[in-house]
Amino acid sequence: MYFSENKEVVKSVVVILSLFVMGKTFPQDDKYASERNSMVRTQIISRGISDRSIVESMKKVPRHLFVPPEYVKDAYSDFPVPIGYGQTISQPYVVAFMTESVRPTKKKKALEIGTGSGYQAAVLAGIVDSVYTVEIVPGLARESAARLKKLGYNNVIVREGDGYNGWVEHAPYDIIIVTAAPEKVPGPLIEQLAENGRLIIPVGSQSGVQELKLLIKRNGKIQTSTLLPVKFVPFRRR
Ligand code: SAH
Repeated sequence: MYFSENKEVVKSVVVILSLFVMGKTFPQDDKYASERNSMVRTQIISRGISDRSIVESMKKVPRHLFVPPEYVKDAYSDFPVPIGYGQTISQPYVVAFMTESVRPTKKKKALEIGTGSGYQAAVLAGIVDSVYTVEIVPGLARESAARLKKLGYNNVIVREGDGYNGWVEHAPYDIIIVTAAPEKVPGPLIEQLAENGRLIIPVGSQSGVQELKLLIKRNGKIQTSTLLPVKFVPFRRR
């Protein structure tokens, strides 16, 4: 009541109080935000990823909350990090590169095979309309579903299962991202790709070379290009 006489005073008190509260409550967040900005600058933008929506999304997703506590210190480093169950969260640049190659935009529907930590799904979810993601390890499917829900990614749906057969109920997809490497592109994923849709997938054996392949469906026909040599965890079958 006393302050309501003077709007300027009320405003300053609110500003001072909120600065105080922010400073007290979120010093960690500031630390990670600066690590994250530097990761985006030095690993993503400097290597030629220019799509603004991807850069903005990667600046927002709190990657340190997608890795186990003992790896938080490596969350923004330039390499993949273990996430338990013998699996890894991909290196930030690989996530950015794969995301850019499928040309995400606001209205698109995406399918991911290999949810893992949920990080790739979260980066996509910040750009596209909806993300359906399938994970074969039950513990990872459960944990990433809970994490994505807690962080407010309401446009991601996680399902536990073998992603070889895609997710037919929601097909066709404008975007399909596979984050584990099979020896051959699973047929059902090609079938579930929409017209003008893009599918990115690492293909190759575990011991030998794997290549990141981009498949585009045009007039019902598939055009394939090979983009990068890579190293992914194996695509498993049930
Ligand atoms: N996109 C993930 C990276 C996960 S690593 C992230 O951002 O963290 C690849 C994941 O693919 C692993 O979690 C592995 O369990 C899963 N995977 C392997 N074969 C699969 C299959 N057939 N169906 C669904 N998930 C599979």
